[in-house]
Formats: sequence, structure tokens, C-alpha cells
Amino acid sequence: MSTFDAAIIGSGPAGITAALYLARSGCSVILFENLAAGGQILQTEVLENYPGFPKGIKGYELADLFAAHIEGLTIERSRDAVDSVRGQVGNFVVSAGEKEYACRTVIVCTGAKHRPLGVEGEDRLQGRGVSYCALCDGNFYRNQPVAVVGGGNSALEESLYLAKIASKVYLIHRRNSFRGAQIYQDKLAALSDKVELVLDSVVDGLQADLIAGLTGVVVRNVVTGEQRPLKVNGLFVYVGMEPRTAFLPPEVERDAQGFLVTDTEMRTSVPGIFAAGDVRSKLCRQAVTAAGDGATAAQAAFVLMEQLHA
Ligand code: NAP
Repeated sequence: MSTFDAAIIGSGPAGITAALYLARSGCSVILFENLAAGGQILQTEVLENYPGFPKGIKGYELADLFAAHIEGLTIERSRDAVDSVRGQVGNFVVSAGEKEYACRTVIVCTGAKHRPLGVEGEDRLQGRGVSYCALCDGNFYRNQPVAVVGGGNSALEESLYLAKIASKVYLIHRRNSFRGAQIYQDKLAALSDKVELVLDSVVDGLQADLIAGLTGVVVRNVVTGEQRPLKVNGLFVYVGMEPRTAFLPPEVERDAQGFLVTDTEMRTSVPGIFAAGDVRSKLCRQAVTAAGDGATAAQAAFVLMEQLHA
């Protein structure tokens, strides 16, 4: 079995940064990538708030730069999905695909995936009208009406993206104020001819036909109780994120939403297992904070390894 100082699981901004720091410190590292380097930023059209890019940078361009930054460093890379992590500090066994790897420390950077809305038919219509990625699927709805659900940064950002493609965007939110950034709200307000805000409203049902897939949604105003059908061909769901932690032992403490609880040094409740980025319980989920978490986790893992060697 190959042995590594650190297994880094996930290759978004947190995982890439952790790998970069540990490899530069001379540690042996295996990076489990599963998807291409970049993680969620690959699903983002433009990042406007990553320092150093005052004009914004396309998600795939930043992902390419991240990948280029670790090119040439001695890092073992695996595309296998991690199935389990067992053992204890200094002696973890990470199983991925058919293989097992011995690792002294583990840094979990697996991020989060979009949470489903939980409405009848959502599963069945995924790929036939229901989507969780405007950048991937938006083009299928060129010049057609679509709806977006949610009131966070994802919903606002993706509504702005879809407004450039679709004939009309209904932005459905269960309250009458958004939690997403004011700058996105202002941009949406300037597009009021294209983007209609459907506030205090939830999606009660999906309408579909066998051939066309989704044909509409029924929204209900939670204040008046009034229902309203909206004719849309696409529904983009952005109602929050779910962390990817199923491969971890139950001893690793989670918060009520399932995100991993860490201290300020990114240590989880299990010594030797660190967490960085969106998988972690925290207030601010951004590419830049994920990168910062990755650097902190790498440094904390390095200090721990020095103690193990002493
Ligand atoms: P989020 O911030 O958790 O927002 C989820 C939204 O969905 C909230 O507005 C919530 O409503 C609504 N919601 C939750 N459950 C719902 C349900 N069952 N039915 C209808 N609506 C529901 O999630 P996110 O927008 O995906 O963002 C996740 C994290 O990534 C955040 O920290 C965000 O700031 C960050 N992010 C940042 C950027 C950026 O900076 N450019 C871009 C994307 C994401 P309430 O408001 O009523 O709770």
C-alpha cells in the first residue's frame, strides 16, 4: 500500500491550495480529484469577487490557473472517488476505487452540492427541464422562459446569467428580501423588463408533458395563499447546499445541516482529519475563503506531522 503524509480529498480552491502548500513543504501528498480541478467554480460563469481580478475572471479560467499552479509539483493524483476513510491519526486508510492508501493525515475539501427543492416530479424531470447548473444547461433554454428558485448568491448570480439567454426569467423566492449580495440585487433591478421577481412565493408543483418535459410551475404566494401557474421550460434550483461527507466516519462531528465542524485551524473532532472550504460549517462560502481554509488546514496538518515525527 502506498503511504502519504496527507490525503487531500477534493480539488476545488481548498484542495488545490492545501496540495500546493503541503507539496511546497516537502510532504508527500495524494490529491483525489474526482472531477477536474476547480470544483464549483467550474459551474460559475464569472467570479467578480476574487482579489486580483478587478474585471472578474471566468470560472474555467481560474480553474485552469489553479491546475497550472500545482503542475510540476510532486503530487500523486487520483481520479477515483473516495469511498471511505478509517483508522486514526498517523495511520489512516483511504479507500478509493479498488485501491487503498495509507495516509498520516486527511484534509477533506469535498465541498457541497446543490440541495434539491423536494417537489413532486423534480427527480424525474432532472435533465428534462429541472437543472441545478445554469452554466451547464442554460443554453438549452435560449429564447425560452425559465424560472429560478432561491434568494441567495447562487440564485441571484444565475438569474443574471440566464437573463442573457432566456426570453424571460422568473426569480421565485419564499421571502420578500434576498440574502444574496446587494450588488446582484441592483443588477437584477436594472433588468426588470427581463427578470420578474416572484416574492413571498414557493413552488407548489411542476407541470410537464411526456415529450416536452417541464412545461410550467405552479407557485403559491405564502402571504395570500394565491396560486399562479408560470409557463416555463426550465427550472433552475438554488435553495442551498448539502455537504459531501458520506465517506467519512460518523465520529467526525457535523452541524445540524451536516457540515463538518472545525476549530480555527480546520481541525475536525477526529485528530488528523482536517476540513477546508464549503464542506466546513461556517458563515462565508466563497472561493477565496475556501483557498484560505486550504492554506490553514495544510499548515495545521504540517505542524501535526512534525509532532508525530518528534
Ligand atoms: P444559500 O445562501 O444558503 O441560499 C439558499 C436560498 O434558498 C435562501 O434564499 C433560502 O431562503 C432559499 N431556500 C432554502 N430552502 C428553500 C426551500 N425549501 N424552498 C425555497 N427556497 C428555499 O445558498 P446558495 O445561494 O447556494 O449559496 C451557498 C453559499 O455559497 C453561500 O454562502 C453563498 O454566499 C456562496 N456563494 C457565493 C457566491 C458569490 O459570492 N458570488 C456565489 C454563489 C454562492 P431564505 O433566504 O428564506 O433562507
